[in-house]
Amino acid sequence: MAPAGVDAARCPFCAGANACAAETGSCWCFDLLVPEALLALVPSKQRNRACICQNCVRAFTRDPDGFTERYRKR
Ligand SMILES: [Zn+2]
Repeated sequence: MAPAGVDAARCPFCAGANACAAETGSCWCFDLLVPEALLALVPSKQRNRACICQNCVRAFTRDPDGFTERYRKR
């Protein structure tokens, strides 16, 4: 479904719109701490390009083990 390129507007985990507004100078992602362990799960070609969406940050915070299990790199 997804083309070879990286879609920076989509979450690397759930592929939903991440709604990151960093380009406007103010975004929810500035206030929310994204855990290092969650960043480590982002595929390397998407890291620092595609934002993780708020839902996935919350899901990870709530259940780190379950989230890691679901999205772990193979
Ligand atoms: Zn997501």
